[in-house]
Amino acid sequence: MSDLERLLDLQANDTAADQLRHRRKVLPERETLVELDRKESALRAEVAEPQAERDGLARDQKRLEDEIATVEGKAAHVEKLLYDGSMTSPKEAQGLQADLESLKRRQSTLEDEVIELMERIEPLDGQLAASVVALGAIDAEREQVKASLASSENVVDSELAETLAARQALVDAVPATLITEYERIRGGEGGIGVARLQGATCMGCHISLAAAEVDVMKRMPAGELAYCPDCGRLLVR
Ligand SMILES: [Zn+2]
Repeated sequence: MSDLERLLDLQANDTAADQLRHRRKVLPERETLVELDRKESALRAEVAEPQAERDGLARDQKRLEDEIATVEGKAAHVEKLLYDGSMTSPKEAQGLQADLESLKRRQSTLEDEVIELMERIEPLDGQLAASVVALGAIDAEREQVKASLASSENVVDSELAETLAARQALVDAVPATLITEYERIRGGEGGIGVARLQGATCMGCHISLAAAEVDVMKRMPAGELAYCPDCGRLLVR
């Protein structure tokens, strides 16, 4: 086997490794993970407004409940004065009775407002709870996809490790200067540094050479390197 034939074997090995690296980069799980991130962002954006609205309403409810507690405290105090027998005149009792009624009315109004707020909070809570469930489902799916990605990567990695292990033997069998030339062309020509000349066609670029060019190549001494005039790759003739 000639050095150039061995170089073709090295090319096949390098192409296989390139394809494995590409396959690793475009594993479908990666796109699925990006899609899940997109879904999560959209969901979070969707609930930002109802969440803010719900938080605002809850703050209003807390404020009303604090006020109710204050009013209740005042009413309890007035009731105590009314019934502990410390009053000196019916007029005073009347005044306290009026105060008490006013406090009770205020409390009733505040309680109605709280109920109204709770009625507005309820559907928002439903919506937010549904989004928590949906986010949980996204997380669970993401974990599954990550596990699947890791196992797909392992498969590719072990194939790549085998390919790279075989590479060294191929490199050792070819003169270093030829390897250097091959690497130089391979770097600039989409990963292909050497190709077979099949009939008059360069199998690197699939362009047919002129008959005269082929003739020249066929007459070259065996050790002389021939290049495709179109793509510049080494040709194995
Ligand atoms: Zn070519």
